[in-house]
Amino acid sequence: MTSTPEPNAGAPCDLRLHDATTAGGRRVTIDILGDRVAALRDADAPLPPAGRTIDLGGALVLPGLTDGHVHLDKCLLGLDWRPHRAQGSVRALIADEKAFRRTTRVPLAEQGAEALLERMIRGGTTSLRTHVDIDDVTRLDHLAQILDLRARWADRLQIQIVAFPQSGILSCQLVAGDLDAALRMGADLVGGLDPVGIDGDPDGPLDIVFALAERHGRGIDIHLHDGGAAGLDTIGSIAARTEAAGLGGQVTISHAFALAEADDLQLGRIAESLSRASVAILSSVPGGRRCPPIQRLRELGVSVCFGTDNVRDCWNPATVTSMVDRVQLAAYRFDLRTDADLTALLDPVTAVPARVLGLGPGVVAPGARADLIAFGAGGVPQLIVERQAPVLVVAKGAVAIDRRTAGKVPQP
Ligand SMILES: [Zn+2]
Repeated sequence: MTSTPEPNAGAPCDLRLHDATTAGGRRVTIDILGDRVAALRDADAPLPPAGRTIDLGGALVLPGLTDGHVHLDKCLLGLDWRPHRAQGSVRALIADEKAFRRTTRVPLAEQGAEALLERMIRGGTTSLRTHVDIDDVTRLDHLAQILDLRARWADRLQIQIVAFPQSGILSCQLVAGDLDAALRMGADLVGGLDPVGIDGDPDGPLDIVFALAERHGRGIDIHLHDGGAAGLDTIGSIAARTEAAGLGGQVTISHAFALAEADDLQLGRIAESLSRASVAILSSVPGGRRCPPIQRLRELGVSVCFGTDNVRDCWNPATVTSMVDRVQLAAYRFDLRTDADLTALLDPVTAVPARVLGLGPGVVAPGARADLIAFGAGGVPQLIVERQAPVLVVAKGAVAIDRRTAGKVPQP
């Protein structure tokens, strides 16, 4: 694999990735103009002049990966290690984090948000959805800081922002008004949190969230940790409200732990309503007993995306930031081994979020955004089980990360 920086005025492309192998095994040359893929040709086809050319020597190339759920404003990667303290409940975790916030005044970028973005792009993530806390401690301060961070990374990363009521909506004064203000400031979606478990009302918080979404013409992404019947009823209610409001394709339920407890009959019924309403499920593939049955949901026609969720913060000290690692966690957790099963696990970080979250190119194709990542693996299954990091990341048409060694793609 070699690189030839040869500026060529009037060239039909700014950057050419020569001799790449697609996930389907086709050897191609990818021409990039601006931030888009301009052309995809067989690698042995005659080529017009180009700007800079990178010869990938047959390396596997995928579309940039999408992290559908992260919390940039919670991450503490930039600070000294903080032992995990809160135990037992979502309420205890909220209280612990608030106590921390009241005594820490480090800007979010230095606290860990910037370090997290750097890790993410090194791992091949080029699009992400971050939730940003809106509560009585943060008010709109976190949002202002994350909007600034998004602007500074706009040349490399596509970032969606969810205005997230981390302390609930009814149980936290001012939050409903602040959510409205957040959407006017630039948040892309309105969030929600456990209507029953935190606000003690199955309908009130959802009334507010759906009214805000309709008023501002935005999507919805609701954290749902509630288990048992309350959790399943809430999922059904969100699906029904989505259908009634005509918001299909714009609503996501994050975590949906209750699905892990559903029996076959319940799961079939809920999956049918989620699929009919075009409501997506987002999972971080958590440990313990809370992970929804991802494979089964996909078989039942539900759109499933993956996200990182917490990265070394008050909620979880875990520090897995690569979506390749996340996919491998899913393969491990559900004991998936065949090439077909492993390859299908790439969809929740590529094609599905492109379709249902509007995040990431999803494909390597003419017209798609030129977010492209190259690996030393011989194919997608190997890449996943070896948890490889990309050797080259092209983000919005420009080389963002280049870890190639002279003339060859390094093996992990
Ligand atoms: Zn979350």
